[in-house]
Amino acid sequence: MTGYKQELKDFFADKCLFNEPMARHTTYRTGGAAEVYVYPQTQEDWSFVLKIANSEKIPLRIIGFGSNILVGEKGVGGITCSTKGMNQVNINGDRIKAQSGAALDKVCEIACEAGLGGMEKLSGIPGSVGGAVYMNAGAFGQETFDCLEYFDVIDRQGRPATLLKEDFKYAYRKVEGIEDYIILSACFKLIKGNFTQLIESRNMVLHKRKEKQPLEFPSAGSVFKRPSNDYASRLIDDTGLRGLTVGGAKVSEKHAGFIINFNRATPKDIRTLMELVREKVKEKHGVELELEQILWGNFE
Ligand SMILES: Cc1cc2nc3c(=O)[nH]c(=O)nc-3n(C[C@H](O)[C@H](O)[C@H](O)COP(=O)(O)OP(=O)(O)OC[C@H]3O[C@@H](n4cnc5c(N)ncnc54)[C@H](O)[C@@H]3O)c2cc1C
Repeated sequence: MTGYKQELKDFFADKCLFNEPMARHTTYRTGGAAEVYVYPQTQEDWSFVLKIANSEKIPLRIIGFGSNILVGEKGVGGITCSTKGMNQVNINGDRIKAQSGAALDKVCEIACEAGLGGMEKLSGIPGSVGGAVYMNAGAFGQETFDCLEYFDVIDRQGRPATLLKEDFKYAYRKVEGIEDYIILSACFKLIKGNFTQLIESRNMVLHKRKEKQPLEFPSAGSVFKRPSNDYASRLIDDTGLRGLTVGGAKVSEKHAGFIINFNRATPKDIRTLMELVREKVKEKHGVELELEQILWGNFE
């Protein structure tokens, strides 16, 4: 090993992996390998990895819990940074500050148990805090940006900053300009509420998810964004695509908005099925479904 890979190995030791299968790091449980996979935890770690990526002009990606990403079979070149080692959560009055690799659901649980409302409906979203901010993840009428106050970042040049949610234009599953930043932590400002009601609301949401979503199979949640005045799952269902299969990938029979990996699906199986669904819905309803999930790397 020579060059930048050796430098990363020397610095990160066992927190630096090579040819790491992304099936291990994505909820679709499929995908090619990351050329280099590292776990930066401190400001110093991030500065180091950014310095290398910038000076060698190497692409750098960030991954949270991989619950919204499909990686192609040929994998991803360059450096992939996992936030999993950064998972502290602190509560202070009506604010919760969490590092980006903390589980969003854990933060929701802590908030509810402290009698703080505003994020109970985000319970059960299987992503990290950083991924939730990046995607403006939401459910049951609540979105991450509703209760977000500010977040700490470093930009791609390694400069730290604290950004207010008002600094961004955000909407349903979209935050303009967020891709310029690495999110290190986020602070949520919540509202004092009734402990029992919050726990009930959280349990209701968790129950509905279990009832309606195919949680027994690997997936990355809803494949498409909600089109205006409709639901992607309704359109897919109405087009008769429930249960449609390509290789090991299937339009879930339980929730037509999900594609599940039911039998060792390849990334190409999933991607082909996504395209097929888009085409057929366009043919029948004239609606262009927009992908919510993010495609990384090269496919067969
Ligand atoms: C069963 C299931 C149910 C789901 N239900 C919902 C739901 O109800 N609502 C919903 O909105 N989503 C849902 N999702 C999708 C997914 O959980 C969310 O989009 C989640 O916010 C993604 O978080 P993540 O940490 O997994 O992000 P990843 O998938 O790892 O990454 C997503 C994007 O965020 C970027 N990113 C991640 N962390 C950072 C960071 N620290 N700094 C900069 N960029 C970062 C990545 O580069 C990537 O572009 C569901 C998924 C599954 C599998």
